[in-house]
Amino acid sequence: MSDMQQIQGKSIGRGIAVGRMLFYKKGGRQIRRTYREDSDAELKRLADAVEVADAQLKALAEQAAQTAGEENAAIFEAHRIMLRDEELHASIREIIQSAKVSAEYAVFVAEEHFSEQLSLLDDEYVQARKADVQDVSWRLIRILNGFEEMQELKEPSIIVAEDLTPSETIQFDRSLILGFVTTQGSANSHTAILARQMSLPAVCGVSVDPAWNGRMAVVDGDSGLVLIDPDEENIEKSRQRKREEAQLRERLQQLKGRPAIAKDGRHIAIYANIGSVEEAIEAKENDAEGIGLFRSEFLYLEGRDLPSEEKQLLAYKAVAEIMEGKPVVIRTLDLGADKQARYLELGQEENPAMGYRAIRICLDRPEIFRTQLRAIYRASVYGSVAILFPMIISIEEVRQCKRHIAEVKAELKAENIPYREDVQIGVMIETPAAALISDQLAGEVDFFSIGTNDLAQYTLAIDRTNARVEALADMHHPAVQTLIRQTVENGHKAGIRVEICGELAADTGYTKTFLDYGVDTLSVSSPYVLAIKDAVIHAVS
Ligand code: PEP
Ligand code: MG
Repeated sequence: MSDMQQIQGKSIGRGIAVGRMLFYKKGGRQIRRTYREDSDAELKRLADAVEVADAQLKALAEQAAQTAGEENAAIFEAHRIMLRDEELHASIREIIQSAKVSAEYAVFVAEEHFSEQLSLLDDEYVQARKADVQDVSWRLIRILNGFEEMQELKEPSIIVAEDLTPSETIQFDRSLILGFVTTQGSANSHTAILARQMSLPAVCGVSVDPAWNGRMAVVDGDSGLVLIDPDEENIEKSRQRKREEAQLRERLQQLKGRPAIAKDGRHIAIYANIGSVEEAIEAKENDAEGIGLFRSEFLYLEGRDLPSEEKQLLAYKAVAEIMEGKPVVIRTLDLGADKQARYLELGQEENPAMGYRAIRICLDRPEIFRTQLRAIYRASVYGSVAILFPMIISIEEVRQCKRHIAEVKAELKAENIPYREDVQIGVMIETPAAALISDQLAGEVDFFSIGTNDLAQYTLAIDRTNARVEALADMHHPAVQTLIRQTVENGHKAGIRVEICGELAADTGYTKTFLDYGVDTLSVSSPYVLAIKDAVIHAVS
């Protein structure tokens, strides 16, 4: 038995990395209050440190421009401006002079103050700026303390850290970084953006351990899975996948702009699954004909509180606009089970996957649901938006959802807020119950989207997060396949469209089967769009 450990995180940069881990330790986060009589000397130390920091940031901006593009160099230019921020300086000076403390302690206190104030504002942009203020302050503190700037990378490594700031990310020698694994981070953080820009696999949401330093790992930036101390078989498999991916990527580029027409002349729409606005850009670049699944819950996982209607509107509108009139299917909140937002305090459950989650939360907490529905309807005027309800098991649930929609529309009308009447409504078929009553559900909605991840989990009674039983999750199982086939048949009998958005849609081994079932749309992660298009074009019946 190998001691391999498997950890599921959140993918924030695609691709696969195999190599040794370097555990990145932050230099000197402990700042002690130190008494300094000579305030002028401290002010001089501060001024000198600002000059050194400015020179460092200038060099970083140049380095970033070369390795990650002008856009990312702008992060460091912004830090240079922040470094000279008069408000921040006034605050540091005041602390040095009135409290008679060292410059580094004054910077530390001023930064804490600033961050605290910014924390009160529930705004993603402000939160990102907070990270920048912290980054700039810690640069100053490191310089004042004479800490070593960076741990040196001596061999190609996977960087593992609790958290990485943009400047830490960019300072590593690009040619020696294989990927990133962090505890903190989100798809919208600058660090994640940099990782994607550098085409590096990155996974966040992993509880990292300093004892991993120097040990082997596989980072799967497509699935978000991290293997610690992988066995030989997994290492070889991953290396092989890396080689194949590189060759395939080259070849698939030629398919851009071509529709996915199967041998029998049918056009299969290939859409992308996304979890953020940035991923919509990636979807578009990868030639997706629409967004088949916008996992809206990631908007709820990023903040400390429920996202406001305005914040959601901005995200949905941005995706609708990026897709320029192409379909964008927004799935309503699917929290619970493996996706927990601490502020909701959902509590511990014996069987969370079969517990209080997704549509069950929404129908139980209509104020949360209605805020989201309002945001989706308001965004509908900016493109072609559709709504998808997760974890449905009954007709009654769909009718309740539709009643909320009718009320939200009436509210918007009364408030003179524009929305589109023709927003399509769909349900996820991801429980055996939904698949078995799909003939009846089809009469209620405009489309079906089959979630094979949960459908297989519930049909086979195999927890999708439990590595011990993963090998038993046979997608070929006739029970799973029969439910998929029947859902397509029932959908088509009622004249509605049927999409598959679970991970199985991206498995080219099933493309022909799905074509035979008559599936209309396959929605996959962006890096797979062209591969699935290729599989549709070449599938032979
Ligand atoms: C699914 O269950 O197949 C699905 C697409 O939804 P999620 O993976 O987000 O549960
Ligand atoms: Mg699901």
